[in-house]
Amino acid sequence: MTSASWIDISVPLYTGMVHWPDNPSVHIERMMDIEGGDVCNVSKMSLGVHTGTHVDAPLHFVRGGSGIHLVPFDALIGPARVIEITDTHVVTVEELRHHDIQQGERILLKTLNSTRCWQTDDFVEDFVYVEQAAARYLASLPIQTLGVDYLSVGGFARDGAETHQALLTANVWIIEGLNLAAISSGTYELMCLPLKILDSDGAPARAVLRK
Ligand SMILES: [Zn+2]
Repeated sequence: MTSASWIDISVPLYTGMVHWPDNPSVHIERMMDIEGGDVCNVSKMSLGVHTGTHVDAPLHFVRGGSGIHLVPFDALIGPARVIEITDTHVVTVEELRHHDIQQGERILLKTLNSTRCWQTDDFVEDFVYVEQAAARYLASLPIQTLGVDYLSVGGFARDGAETHQALLTANVWIIEGLNLAAISSGTYELMCLPLKILDSDGAPARAVLRK
């Protein structure tokens, strides 16, 4: 019997890493250090909750929406389909329609972002994003979960709020900041658990897949 191993699709957190332009920068430092004579090593970190691989709660864009501590585990644990997007600018309804996406699916979109955007600590403004019409299409099914491979499901210059609102008002849970470079299209088992931060609009998460 062979058991496929888990593949990490999260990005590492470190001081100076990329972050959304108006979000806080990331600082992780040792406050206590064995090398400095302390009895143990203890680190402190400062970062926005939408840093790196993270989950958006409805509260991120919906007034009175659920906080991240209320995430239903079924949204983030279970079968998920990785779809490779060929458009190098935007995820369109037309392209999504070719994949016969069904109600209740967990969908992870692999775009050019995975091999392009994580190579630099500078924010990439022209990343591939989900246009608002495509978000409304996915929300109409509705799918259960949408994962994307850079810091926002919506674009930097357009469809930021509209895309988030379309998905979050339909209770589609959003995973952002995945790195799918090592993953090919197909069906996998997904496990992704965001930190239980009370009433937070989002939280960093570890995400893994296996065939
Ligand atoms: Zn977010």
